[in-house]
Parts: sequence; C-alpha cells; structure tokens
Amino acid sequence: MYTINGNYLQLQGSYLFSDIAKKVAAYQEKNPGAKVIRLGIGDVTQPLAPAIVEALQRAVEQMGTAEGFHGYGPEQGYDFLREAIVEHDYRARGLSVAADEIFVSDGAKCDVGNIQEIFGADNRVAVCDPVYPVYVDTNVMAGRSGRFVQDAGGFERLIYMPCTEENGFAPSLPETAPDLIYLCFPNNPTGAVIPKDALQRWVDYANEKGAVILYDAAYEAYISEDNVPHSIYECSGARTCAIEIHSFSKNAGFTGLRLGYTVVPKDLAQNGLRLHSLWGRRQGTKYNGAPYIVQRAGEAVYSTEGKKQLKKQVGYYMENARLIREGLRDMGYCAYGGVNAPYIWLKTPDHMSSWAFFDLLLQRAQVVGTPGCGFGKSGEGYFRLTAFGTQENTREALARIRRL
Ligand code: PLP
Repeated sequence: MYTINGNYLQLQGSYLFSDIAKKVAAYQEKNPGAKVIRLGIGDVTQPLAPAIVEALQRAVEQMGTAEGFHGYGPEQGYDFLREAIVEHDYRARGLSVAADEIFVSDGAKCDVGNIQEIFGADNRVAVCDPVYPVYVDTNVMAGRSGRFVQDAGGFERLIYMPCTEENGFAPSLPETAPDLIYLCFPNNPTGAVIPKDALQRWVDYANEKGAVILYDAAYEAYISEDNVPHSIYECSGARTCAIEIHSFSKNAGFTGLRLGYTVVPKDLAQNGLRLHSLWGRRQGTKYNGAPYIVQRAGEAVYSTEGKKQLKKQVGYYMENARLIREGLRDMGYCAYGGVNAPYIWLKTPDHMSSWAFFDLLLQRAQVVGTPGCGFGKSGEGYFRLTAFGTQENTREALARIRRL
C-alpha cells in the first residue's frame, strides 16, 4: 500500500487565494447584481503589447512550415533569448552575467519553488515575514519545517525575519545563521525596497556565513528610484553567493503566456561543486523548456518597440499605484509601497484584523484585496491592494472606499 509524503500534512490550510475566491463567490451568490472590483490577486489586466503579439504571430507562422518548425529546444533556452537577456538586463547595466549562466523557464514561480531541491534537506532557511507563500510551502514540502532535533539545542529550520513598520519592512540580518536566504525586492506583498548598501550587507553576510541568497526580482521593472538595485549582481561578491530569479509576468504581461529565467553564476560553488551544474542537471531531468513561440515573444520584450510599449504599460500600473497610495493617505490610511512596486501595503484602521477588513471592504465597498495575515504572522493588521487593475476600476474602488 502506498504511503504519502507526510511533509504535505505540515502545510498550513489551503492556499490564501482559494480562501479569498470562496468568500467572493459566496458574496456574489448572495448579491448577484453586485459589481465586485478585484484588487487582490497579482494578475495583470492590460493586453499583450503589439510588439509581443507580432513576435508570437511570426513564430506561429514559422512553426507551421518545414523550415521554421522547432521541436524540443536547447535545455537552458534559445540563444537568441539568453543573449537578449544578458545584453539588456545585465551588460547594459555594466554587470557581468554570461548567457550560459541563464536558465530560461516558464515563469518565476516554478524556479523559486524548485530551486530548493538542489540543497540538502537539513538546510536552515530564512524568509521574510510577511512572505510570498511559495518560498515557505515548497520548503515545508521538502521537509524543512519544524524543529531539527539534533541535540538538546534543536533549531527551527525555517527562520522568519519580521518586516514591520518599525524596520521599514526591511528584514534584519538573522541572529541564527541560515543556509538559504530568500529575498524579494521590490517586495511582494509590502512593496518595500532596500537601497544598494543594505543589499550589499546581505551579500557580505551570505559570503561570510557560506549561505546562498535566492533573490526574487519578479518586480524589478517597477523600480523608479535611483538608489534601488535592479539586480543583486550590482553588489560586489554576489556572484559567489546569489541566485537571481526573474519573471516576464509583471513587466510584460506574460502571466498567461509563461516565461521567466534564473541566473546561477558559475562562481557559486562549494568544494569545487557548482550549483550551476546541479540546477542544470535538475532542469535537464525534470523540465523540457519554455515553448519556442513564447521565447520569441520574450525576445520581443527587449526590442526597441517592445521596450517602449512596455514602459508605457508599467507606467499605466504605476499610475494606479500612485492613485491608490495617495488616495488612501488622503483618506487617513497609513499606506506603504506603490513607489517602486505595484503593491500598496496598508495598515487596517482601528487595529482591525486583516480578515475583518477584507470582509468590510467586500461587503460595504465590493472591493477585494488580500488580507496581510495570509502572508505571515507579521502581516496581521495589514492589507494588500494591487495596482494591476484597470484605471477605471482603480478609481471606482477608491471612490467606494472613500464613501465607507
Ligand atoms: N515571485 C513573486 C514574488 C511573485 O509575486 C510572483 C507572482 O505573483 C512570482 C514570483 C511568480 O511569477 P511567475 O508568473 O513568473 O511565475
């Protein structure tokens, strides 16, 4: 008889967004005419930019011809895309990342979820609190949760680093040294960023402790301030301690197309064993690559026209972010984020719990956001709104909240 992977039983409840969906569905069943505005899930709403649509069309046409057909692609992704990534995301910024250090994938979620597989089950993992739940859940699935009873002084494998109003939503270096450190800037859910010297401290710390930083840069395109690093490789020494993960979802609207990439520098090694080789082996075994047509669409993200169109698209969402942040502050809310990120992290009024505020907004304003407690203990008393709605809906949602 089969047994199950007991680690799955350690996972907390059901996934946050399915709880939200259930509450919204129940509300809509009771109020069939209500127009609910969703500023909860981090999905984009603007259509694909014309340059991307054209690239997709061209690639589809090619695939229907004998000469242009593409079957299984190269394991790490097509050269045309990896070269474009290196040129625009790194070389243009004076950073040294080579094309063969790029692993193209079908999105950041699977990479941030799967990367832990190349590390030992006994690694200690530090995550921010609040946190993008995928970092925690994938480590719990792999058995990295609870107390490690090695001796009387057993330790927790998961180390939570509180990100609060007091520390500007930027974690402090943990007292117990972790082996893996997940960092995400601009941050989901708080919208916080850290300046380059603060990120440099993390890189120095990781190199000193022999830890690896898993740097999630999914929201890099939203950075608007000068002193905020776009890549962890802007910090000296990052090539020996950091893996960087990117997504095409939020900068180019690929949430439905699916594309991302992970950089594993060849300098990242222990006793001569490169993490690059392990990740290559892992991907080569379990993954067959992003579709050719999607990689062509990814290439178009870096074309002159593509860049121009996407700058406008990101600008559209950032205008929503400004409207939400300033609108809420004007109403007397304490609202953070929204300057270098498409997320606004607001403090619930009158010490309401996150879920109570969720219910209030749903019932009285028909606006859906995300309760902060769904991202961790330190998220209690906070609420996340996203700038990914249409401008019309964003304005309408704010008007309704103002009427509350
Ligand atoms: N990383 C963070 C921090 C995210 O917020 C998200 C999506 O919301 C992802 C990764 C997933 O990105 P992708 O759509 O590329 O899988």
